[in-house]
Amino acid sequence: MLKSKTCHLKFALLAISHLLGEKSGKRIGMKLNIAVIDAEILNKMATTKYKTLRLILGDQLNINHSWFKKVDDTITYVMMEVRTETDYVQHHIQKVIGIFASMQSFAKLLQKHKHKVIYIKLNDKNNLQSFDKNCDLLILQNNFTNFEYQLSDEFRVDEHLNQYAKSLAIPSSVIDTEHFYSSRNELGNLFEGKKMYLMETFYRYMRKKHHILIVDGDKPLHGKWNFDEDNRQKLPKNHKPTTPLLFLNDVTEIETEIKKAKVKTIGTVKATHFLWPINRDQSLQLLDFFVKECLPLFGTFQDAMAPNEWSLYHSRLSFSMNIKLISPQEVVNRAVFEYNKRPEEIEYNQLEGFVRQIIGWREYMRGIYWLKMPEYGALNYFEHTEKLPDWFWTGKTKMNCLKNAIAQSLEFAYAHHIQRLMITGNFALLAGVNPNEVDAWYLGIYIDAFEWVEITNTRGMSQFADGGIVGSKPYVSSATYINKMSSYCTGCYYDKAKKTGDKACPFNSLYWNFYDKHESKLAKNPRIGMMYNVWRKMQPNAKAELLEQADYYLKHINEL
Ligand SMILES: Cc1cc2nc3c(=O)[nH]c(=O)nc-3n(C[C@H](O)[C@H](O)[C@H](O)COP(=O)(O)OP(=O)(O)OC[C@H]3O[C@@H](n4cnc5c(N)ncnc54)[C@H](O)[C@@H]3O)c2cc1C
Ligand code: SF4
Repeated sequence: MLKSKTCHLKFALLAISHLLGEKSGKRIGMKLNIAVIDAEILNKMATTKYKTLRLILGDQLNINHSWFKKVDDTITYVMMEVRTETDYVQHHIQKVIGIFASMQSFAKLLQKHKHKVIYIKLNDKNNLQSFDKNCDLLILQNNFTNFEYQLSDEFRVDEHLNQYAKSLAIPSSVIDTEHFYSSRNELGNLFEGKKMYLMETFYRYMRKKHHILIVDGDKPLHGKWNFDEDNRQKLPKNHKPTTPLLFLNDVTEIETEIKKAKVKTIGTVKATHFLWPINRDQSLQLLDFFVKECLPLFGTFQDAMAPNEWSLYHSRLSFSMNIKLISPQEVVNRAVFEYNKRPEEIEYNQLEGFVRQIIGWREYMRGIYWLKMPEYGALNYFEHTEKLPDWFWTGKTKMNCLKNAIAQSLEFAYAHHIQRLMITGNFALLAGVNPNEVDAWYLGIYIDAFEWVEITNTRGMSQFADGGIVGSKPYVSSATYINKMSSYCTGCYYDKAKKTGDKACPFNSLYWNFYDKHESKLAKNPRIGMMYNVWRKMQPNAKAELLEQADYYLKHINEL
């Protein structure tokens, strides 16, 4: 994707204004002083004839990328910590630290492999705090003759970099991240002309295409595509799950820099004991721990929830995968290898359930994202307008399920899928919260939150704001489901069995209120028509009491 030289004049003017330190007509007195990890790099660069600047984003830490296969003196990599990325949403402190720490160790790894790297830290004096401005300056300063970047996973950054590349006077090119199983448009091509985008169809296509758990050419191993009915049990009463593997990274320096820059963040961190993997070795250790300790019960307790158990048998690999320290192929292959090695200990349903999350859901969400953005980001099927309750930011609510799910999100920047979907997401949908608010919360609070996978899960799967592109029905429930899958209700201030009156569980009345309010949009949905039969058969006074109770709770939402 090479471009011809254009916009010389524009570039020259921009460059001069940068050198003079002018911004929007004002002089900002800037001096050229980009932080360079290896100070000799600039000298070397000045004497090299053809020089390429390659930009690596914070979620592009793929050391196996073809870019890094050979060392080339004419190529310089740039990585940067910039305010456009720390501030586009209010992130969890652990997310910002996790990304910066991983970027820094990746830059060091590249240098160890003899690649030239320029690393711009957040508080470096002349950090211009955006990709385009910093690159402009470097190109000008070092006479780069070529600019290259990898395809961004996020629409926002993709647009920004495409515009930037177009505006340059030097040739530019873009290359795939070489991370995902599928290309950006593969899902769109698969479903071309179809009204429905069924995940199951996509998943089977992926299994066959990549020959994963397939026999006899195109048949599913063990005769079925889906073993969900064997999964999803509640945690037995005295069951003690595996203790999670935590790392002890000291990230105090990075925390100090973030505070110094006054970046607004959510949540807490133990900076001397940062528990998330921040390099490839640690990510591989976590993968090893997962397949050995957690995979044998992954599917069984995939949807289980328990107070004080924040990760159960989940892999916690999403962060490492999303910033590309490890690839989905490595994760899937390792899980399949472990299953083949220990067939007595790992049942097939555990493995199939896990593989489906990665080659199914993860790739599917990305495909939907690229098919439907940017329109997807504004969808609001139910026209919900409410604000998120204040306690989403503190965890201070009497509802035990929400208290636990939010408190652990603030403490660890993590909640597993069912907590995100059936506790926080469920409540936000029942409370009629504006999907923009819900998106911003999810995009900020989780360490693995990047828009391509966050928005499709939040606006789509969890809030049904896409009207059924991702899911075939809204995921809402009363206390019955929460009690079935968790032990949160035991010890809750509210009574799970009560629908109305003092201490009635809020989920119960809000659930019926939701169906009542959205009858015109939902009654014809074949997957929920049954609920409307129940609702219609209910005595008018029972219905009125439920709606009154819901109304009271919605008006006092911050006190729940
Ligand atoms: C409202 C909501 C918001 C979400 N936001 C994000 C997000 O910002 N980033 C993110 O990576 N995931 C998101 N998910 C999906 C899922 O909850 C997380 O991927 C998972 O909890 C990460 O933890 P884990 O690595 O322990 O996952 P595991 O339970 O161990 O699953 C293994 C892997 O499968 C993949 N996976 C599982 N479910 C999904 C899914 N629904 N969509 C995409 N990939 C999936 C992930 O890569 C995950 O690491 C969201 C889900 C919901 C309901
Ligand atoms: S009783 Fe209701 S609010 Fe309390 S934990 Fe159960 S579902 Fe949550």
